[in-house]
Amino acid sequence: MGWELFTRDELAWRALGLAGLIGATRLLRCGSFGFTKNRLWSPPNSPFCFRESFLVIEPKHALVLFSGGQDSTACLAWALSRYDRVETIGFDYGQRHRVELDQRLVILDAIRASMPQWGNKLGDDHLLDLGLLGQISDTALTRDTAIAMAESGLPTTFVPGRNLVFLTFAGALAYRRGLGVLVGGMCETDYSGYPDCRRATLDAMEQSLSLGMDVSFKLATPLMYLTKAQTWDLAFALGGDALIDLTVEHSHTCYTGDRSMRHDWGYGCGTCPACELRAAGWQQWQAQHQGQAVQGARVAP
Ligand SMILES: [Zn+2]
Repeated sequence: MGWELFTRDELAWRALGLAGLIGATRLLRCGSFGFTKNRLWSPPNSPFCFRESFLVIEPKHALVLFSGGQDSTACLAWALSRYDRVETIGFDYGQRHRVELDQRLVILDAIRASMPQWGNKLGDDHLLDLGLLGQISDTALTRDTAIAMAESGLPTTFVPGRNLVFLTFAGALAYRRGLGVLVGGMCETDYSGYPDCRRATLDAMEQSLSLGMDVSFKLATPLMYLTKAQTWDLAFALGGDALIDLTVEHSHTCYTGDRSMRHDWGYGCGTCPACELRAAGWQQWQAQHQGQAVQGARVAP
């Protein structure tokens, strides 16, 4: 019988030796044996190295909800200016046009090509299919009517609580990617009609995501109390003329997806609520910005 080849003590020593060998191999390959707070378990990919299975939730790594619009471009720049690594997430929910989704990639490529200090921090981009949102929105598909703008300035395709859905998926992805900060362009100032853009809602969401996934997420909303003009100002402070030019040229806000008309504030139909808001913010900022530039020139010796 095989068991009789070894005494009980010899078997114990051999088991101990094998455990030591596995531990030492893992230490060499992974740099750690350890379990620490906020390390996440999933089935190991390798029998010897569990590094890929133990993701650390990094407070200096961020996931930006990036739609390709002006606001989320400013949020992306804000995140790139303060976090060590930044990934982006977008949602395909059956938008009536794919212009924003296409422009997302154009903006990311432009940052990588022309802003190396930020491009080096820019990690993976993720596009999630949330086509099911179309089943609960009041769209031309379900009502056989054309898209319309409500008095609030919101398109009738608006889905109540949509940001909560987006943030839940973003949180789940951030958990898997070890990203501790979610960054969104929600704003109370210009969008008071959206209750899921209010900071109080997002405070509750931050707590829900952190409790629900047992990690410490931060939900950052740098535009929360800014006007559109101040958002342009923030972009200028973060990235100067280069970021302003990039935002004007490549970010897309127009609800109708028009990119045939170029205005000084960028492309769009010029008449939908999103275009009107963007144009008004740009003109207000231009007036202030040019005023400051003139004042600066007068002060300069
Ligand atoms: Zn428009």
